[in-house]
Amino acid sequence: MESQMKRLKEEADIKTVVDALGIPVERKGMNYFLCCPSPEHDDTNPSAYFKDGWNNIYCNSCCRAFKALDVIMMTAGWDIKEAANYLWELEGCPDWFVASEEERMSFSLTPQEARTIGLRPSGEAACCVSYGDMKRPLRLNEHYAPHVTYGYLKVKNTRVSWKDFMSEQEFAGLVIRKAAEAAETYRRYGMKRETDQAIAVLRRAAKARQAWERLSA
Ligand SMILES: [Zn+2]
Repeated sequence: MESQMKRLKEEADIKTVVDALGIPVERKGMNYFLCCPSPEHDDTNPSAYFKDGWNNIYCNSCCRAFKALDVIMMTAGWDIKEAANYLWELEGCPDWFVASEEERMSFSLTPQEARTIGLRPSGEAACCVSYGDMKRPLRLNEHYAPHVTYGYLKVKNTRVSWKDFMSEQEFAGLVIRKAAEAAETYRRYGMKRETDQAIAVLRRAAKARQAWERLSA
């Protein structure tokens, strides 16, 4: 397990990971610059970079390299198991990586599958982090002009995923509905390959849901 994890880490193409997570990068010559993924480093002026073919991001300020699993955990806020599963899917589910029973039960989509059925499983949301200066208390269900409420709430754009809002079972349910819809639309337009892909996603989600139902029965 230890060496599998290591291999998963070493073989990861960092550009694929960064793109999948939707992290903004700026290309300058051979280098891709981005903000340091470390939560301890409040980086606003991109000081981390990587090059094509690298398996890590290097931060010039922290003097530290971040591998794919670190970047996924730091960006998505997942634990190592979830991050490993995500990375495994990004790497095209290599069969030398044997996920544990519990991990095999977990259901998620590859970015490509998500696109096929028109879902965005992760993205950014403005989350409240603190209140600003309370000039006077605001009352619920009352409308205020923007200049009155300005400065009350401090929000920060944070990465969120479906895991912040629903269980894996609920997610599988959502995927089943979306995949059925997508398959129907693709079929109507005669897009055979996309139809098949959507149906494959639907089957996998349905199978995962059945497994949970058996388990909880
Ligand atoms: Zn840094």
